Amino acid sequence: MINTNEALQRFEKLIELQRSRVQAMKAQGDFVDYSSLDKIIIGVCGGDGIGPVITHEAERVLRFLLSEQVAAGKIEFRRIDGLTIENRVACMKAIPDDVLAQLKECHVILKGPTTTPRAGDPWPNIESANVAMRKELDLFANVRPVKVPSLGIDWTFFRENTEGAYTLGSFGFEVEDGISLDFTVTTTEGTLRIARMAYEYAHKNHKNHVSIVTKANIVKATDGKFLSLCQQVAAEYPEITTDDWYIDIMTAKLVDEKRRRDFRVFVLPNLYGDIITDEAAEFQGGVGTAGSANLGKRYAMFEAIHGSAPRMVEEGRANYADPCSILRASVLLLSHIGYQEQADKLEAALDKCMFEEKAMTITGRNTGCTTEDFGNYVMQTIESL
Ligand code: NAD
Repeated sequence: MINTNEALQRFEKLIELQRSRVQAMKAQGDFVDYSSLDKIIIGVCGGDGIGPVITHEAERVLRFLLSEQVAAGKIEFRRIDGLTIENRVACMKAIPDDVLAQLKECHVILKGPTTTPRAGDPWPNIESANVAMRKELDLFANVRPVKVPSLGIDWTFFRENTEGAYTLGSFGFEVEDGISLDFTVTTTEGTLRIARMAYEYAHKNHKNHVSIVTKANIVKATDGKFLSLCQQVAAEYPEITTDDWYIDIMTAKLVDEKRRRDFRVFVLPNLYGDIITDEAAEFQGGVGTAGSANLGKRYAMFEAIHGSAPRMVEEGRANYADPCSILRASVLLLSHIGYQEQADKLEAALDKCMFEEKAMTITGRNTGCTTEDFGNYVMQTIESL
């Protein structure tokens, strides 16, 4: 607990911190043009628990799809082994310095899930490697596609990743008299970049509808700014229908079978994005069905949406882990670096293996096939397309 004076000092520091973030954002150049690079370096970070098993499988499938480019030296896969909970605890850093330096030498990163200690775990408290990576590499957009063709669902979420209540979560404090305060932040620079990314994506992918989701009627300064800046960007795309929703009604509309078919692209602040993307993924069915992309101007990171599943490792079942989520993330990676044909092939093969042909099933235990068998099945399917 602190007194009012100290609270004011902390608040001042917080504003200063955000001001320097804004300066850094302003100083940033444009997005990397992957087509202009002689070589694209894909960093492969196994992470914890089942991470190394599923990431290894995804790397095998990616190498198979990109064999020509690897042989020609246009693509390099670079293994980064040190992002483990043991290493992070040893130096008490969310990302060890040498690992961060290696990550920064890559263009894109394929990342296995990383363990974040919680109460009762054998590890001391340490910041999430994911949150740290988003900050360090300025991965400001969390992009998550959710597709259920049979229900007419074809959604892509653009969740702001570096602002909102989420990133200031550890800056809250309790002042005398039992008063606890937390903070949230929206910046002009931070909002314009996520809004532009969402609209550019909608435009390029012929998605004709963008929904801005906030609680601007109540959270007026920050959500109000987010909404009005997104609307400002929307005006640059007259061919796209834009509407805006409050987060409460949007969570309801996602279960409204008639209405939800109309939605295509969503752009929303961090916390609402966190909540609603989990709801949306539920329609798709389970951890294997979605991957996620964390995009910035210089770096991009692609990962599964599930965690490190430590119990699977303890029970000796790691080799039965489902690689589908990280393979879905690999589709996003291929598309992001400009290999759309390979991305389409991998997506089609995953749809066939997971939903249509289903010659092999993966159950997470020895009642199903192994991670490696499933990877082989995906590669054989790619060949047969
Ligand atoms: P989890 O996703 O690891 O596990 C939830 C359940 O799903 C478990 O029953 C697990 O066995 C199963 N499961 C998950 N992935 C699977 C796969 N590929 N194949 C088969 N079954 C699978 O979630 P949790 O237990 O809440 O978290 C474990 C750890 O992972 C925590 O330390 C958490 O912080 C971390 N985590 C990391 C990320 C990330 O790095 N992006 C995301 C979520 C959780």
